[in-house]
Amino acid sequence: MSNTNTSFVLQKIDEISFEQRDMPIAGPGEVIVNIKATGICGSDVHYWTHGSIGHFICKAPMVLGHESAGIVSSLGPGVTSLKVGDAVALEPGVPCRNCEMCKIGKYNLCPDMKFAATPPYDGTLCNYYKHAADFCYKLPQSISLEEGAMMEPLSVGIHAARRGNVKLGDRVFVFGAGAIGLLTAAAAKAAGASHVTIADISESKLDFAKTYSADKTILLTKKRSEGQDSNDFARQQAEEIMAEHGVELANVVFDCTGAEVCVQTSVFLAKNNGCVVLVGMGASVQSLSVADISAREIDVRGVMRYCNTYPTAIEMLASGKIDVKALITHRYQFKDALKAFQHVKEARQGTIKVVILNE
Ligand SMILES: [Zn+2]
Ligand SMILES: [Zn+2]
Repeated sequence: MSNTNTSFVLQKIDEISFEQRDMPIAGPGEVIVNIKATGICGSDVHYWTHGSIGHFICKAPMVLGHESAGIVSSLGPGVTSLKVGDAVALEPGVPCRNCEMCKIGKYNLCPDMKFAATPPYDGTLCNYYKHAADFCYKLPQSISLEEGAMMEPLSVGIHAARRGNVKLGDRVFVFGAGAIGLLTAAAAKAAGASHVTIADISESKLDFAKTYSADKTILLTKKRSEGQDSNDFARQQAEEIMAEHGVELANVVFDCTGAEVCVQTSVFLAKNNGCVVLVGMGASVQSLSVADISAREIDVRGVMRYCNTYPTAIEMLASGKIDVKALITHRYQFKDALKAFQHVKEARQGTIKVVILNE
């Protein structure tokens, strides 16, 4: 399978199949990467089951996957930063490099971003993927290719911690104990947070969080009573969390769920002058207590993927400050990619990250 460009293609909603695609040819400044490991992301599964995410709509068949690492197999003209045989992690979004956002270094906000497996751009679940050489990051020998694939979700955590401006001694609260919540917590701790609490509705996820990046975990069980205002419920939930679990107001609260009730509660868990970082993606319109945000000067900050994080992610891993291996709970061969997607879709217990390995 490895000498042909077998690709895992979303044909239309609920229909994925393998296709033999043309072998890519590297143009100036590009390389071809023989993909070896790809993590499955919630967004990949969402395109499969819904055909769209927000205003990104699949109108044509699209190769899935964007969390990849592999081996450089050929170089286009002018590439001097890499050699054939180098192990690299792929940063899946290539911006225009010319616009205002690119020039100020916030290239994640480039309006002309070409991001793998975001329509109309093909993803990385194939044998050979063409990519800009400057968005391929050489992995040291101490980092495996499957760990290299984890540089993408770790990048989300690092960027979130930066957006939250986590400082030495900060108390941090995280909603969501999935891969992104865990990695955001890990990045916050590495950035100096003194205490990280992670809350979720899944006991098994919290059990894992305890062994990974959480100092304290909280199982969310409360439900809003009928007719109760959602922000009143959120305020009450925050008060109960603090009273029952001995948690103090946090300098930075990360919502990694997108669930409105969690975002609302985040506001009430943030200290005066604190920060709420919106990492998760949920309903596009949500109601927050503006009075609290305003009177207590809480910064509510958005997060769009990441920028300038790959070198940091690799350094954190190479130095042992952050571990990503523990998050890889399941592995599938590329030929069984559909089974891997089904696994993620079913949200099987004990699953954090599923990685697809090419031969
Ligand atoms: Zn992802
Ligand atoms: Zn740009």
